[in-house]
Amino acid sequence: MNLDILAIAAHRDDVEQTCGGTLLKMAERGHRTGILDLTRGEMGTRGSAEERAAEAAEAAKILRVSWRHALDIPDGRVENTWENRLKVARVIREQRPRVVILPYWEGRHPDHYTASKLGYEACFLAGLAKLDIERALSTQQSAFSQVASAVASVVAREKQGSTVSESLAPHRPFKIIYATLYFDIRPTFVVDISDQFEARFESLMAYKSQFSDQEAGKDIFPARDEIRARIESMARFYGMLAGVTYAEPFLQKEVGLVEDVTGIPVKSI
Ligand SMILES: [Zn+2]
Repeated sequence: MNLDILAIAAHRDDVEQTCGGTLLKMAERGHRTGILDLTRGEMGTRGSAEERAAEAAEAAKILRVSWRHALDIPDGRVENTWENRLKVARVIREQRPRVVILPYWEGRHPDHYTASKLGYEACFLAGLAKLDIERALSTQQSAFSQVASAVASVVAREKQGSTVSESLAPHRPFKIIYATLYFDIRPTFVVDISDQFEARFESLMAYKSQFSDQEAGKDIFPARDEIRARIESMARFYGMLAGVTYAEPFLQKEVGLVEDVTGIPVKSI
């Protein structure tokens, strides 16, 4: 089953902060949604990668996400390399999303803006008919891991039968949109998440090791009430721009296409 929407982000909990309400809203409308986290959070001040995996699964449940996976790109070292582009492109071919949500391409955290470029270029690569991703990945890796991945791909093929080659056929998403919450830029559109705001907040709170009130790392991580106030004021601000209570901001590079000018939403005066 293909995904309708795939959100790609550097860290577990990024999607919950930037576009979780939108993912939940799309799932409620019957779309199949997914999240690809590029890293596993092993560099986090609090909690282990294992704890974060369990928390990410809980958050995905709250957001009614159908598919979630974390790649093994090192946390704090998301680089736009050929190998990383291939890894993301493989996921795009497997999951075949119509829409991909990427982080905005500028920002404070290098992992975030690098994930944007990496994601865009992977979407492009995934559509190249002559690119054999498995082969390209195995020539990229060392002799030892080549053997391991060859064994793994044989096992995967045996498990899935003939669907493997079919599922890895070229695919390019129709639409790429950018979640801009981490950067101060005017969005080109917002999604009304007034009905999803509470659940989105709970999905973020599922990362208990990061966000609960505790002593370790207290200077870096504000307590739950403070997070709530920040998240709420951001969502209110973007909601206000469109005349709704809460919204999430996005940017598309393309222009909007309109059939009927009497139906354009958001009041001018
Ligand atoms: Zn992040």
